[in-house]
Amino acid sequence: IKLFAQWQARQKDGRSMRERSNALRRQIANPSSIQHEDEDEGTDSTSPSKPPGTPSAQENIKNMTKEELIEEARVIKDQLSSIEEDEARLETQMAELALAIPNLTSLETPRGHEPRILSFINEHPDSITSSSDRVWRSHVHIGSELGLLDFAGAATTSGWGWYYLLDEGAQLEQALVSYALAVVTKHGLGWRQVAPPSIVYSHIAAACGFQPRDQNGEQQVYTLAQSAADAQRGRPELCLAGTAEIPLAGMKADSVLDEADLPLKRVGVSRCYRAEAGARGVDTKGLYRVHEFTKVEMFAWTPPDDSATAQIFDEMLDLQTEILGGLGLPCRVLEMPTADLGASAFRKCDIEAFFPSRRNLDRGDDGWGEVTSASICTDYQTRRLATRLRPASSSGKMTYPWTVNGTALAVPRVLAALLENGWDESEMTVAIPECLRPWMDGKEKIGLKH
Ligand code: AMP
Repeated sequence: IKLFAQWQARQKDGRSMRERSNALRRQIANPSSIQHEDEDEGTDSTSPSKPPGTPSAQENIKNMTKEELIEEARVIKDQLSSIEEDEARLETQMAELALAIPNLTSLETPRGHEPRILSFINEHPDSITSSSDRVWRSHVHIGSELGLLDFAGAATTSGWGWYYLLDEGAQLEQALVSYALAVVTKHGLGWRQVAPPSIVYSHIAAACGFQPRDQNGEQQVYTLAQSAADAQRGRPELCLAGTAEIPLAGMKADSVLDEADLPLKRVGVSRCYRAEAGARGVDTKGLYRVHEFTKVEMFAWTPPDDSATAQIFDEMLDLQTEILGGLGLPCRVLEMPTADLGASAFRKCDIEAFFPSRRNLDRGDDGWGEVTSASICTDYQTRRLATRLRPASSSGKMTYPWTVNGTALAVPRVLAALLENGWDESEMTVAIPECLRPWMDGKEKIGLKH
């Protein structure tokens, strides 16, 4: 509010200076016009407020010599350029603050740090772990035993946090993507497939709620180095998209949608890039937190009302449940608390899968890890992207559609959970869920003997 008041004051100063400058220039060009203009344009009492020391548009002009007129025009030109600099600086500061304001919060959202458990999918981990003497291994161990994952090789080419998927590991990635797409599109619910770009303008990512740095100032987004020539031409900065949500939302930036066409539903497969600076500890081992991964993402524009949007959100949760249910992974569905909403979400539900190797009850870790996320963003993204909504009735006024996004399947964590939950130590094999077999040459298991 303070910045806006300063900006308004600078705008006013600029306006009155421009008027004065115009009057000076007219007087220099045509000294006889001043009497006439004085009469036409009124007196000081009607002119806009002026910065201290600046005469109003016509004040004193008729008594000034040509040299005085030229000198004052020069001084005003300098003052105007400093006002314009102030205006631009204030606009940037206001835009930065506005971008940092998060969305409002749904009444469904638990206040604080604790999520609410909504339901479980597949067998509960407690019954699996207590009723068997199976040996649990980490996916890093299994992946290297079976030759499916290579972290050390990727450390040479790209650094830690990257990985190679090998043989059936690479095949499983494609199988998971094909399976997730098949589930999302098979019900005839209107999900249309999009192959989006991986590089987006930084301002489009910021408009979607992805700031280059987190609250601790750590870089979260990979920004592309700009050539000096591009910077000089004023080309906007580019970054690698952390999720297909950004290019999908951006598809309708600066556009008008028709209410009758909503909901619009899109499903995109993309490579996702996360700097993940500052991430430490158990999460950074293996595939759990990596810098690049493949994700199938659902994105929808919905009418700006609670019940129509909740319907699409529930549809996404049903699809996520069907996908994870089919894979046989023990999962739980959570209503996420205010502390976990991030900038853009009004309401968020995550699904966590059970990772046996992460379970360490002494350390207070029960082994659950997030595998999907779905969020209602209301008009947070569409306002910033200027995606407007033309109402169905001609008398209604333009508004903004709402957006909803949800993971259909993010490969690395699901792959890790499949390796860990499907591991058979005595056979040295991993079970392949039936739903993936059509894309895995019909194999029921993978392992050294298969
Ligand atoms: P997000 O787009 O951050 O809501 O994440 C959606 C899903 O992507 C998560 O539930 C994870 O399954 C997966 N994911 C996010 N970040 C990473 C990462 N750095 N490495 C591996 N998977 C990730």
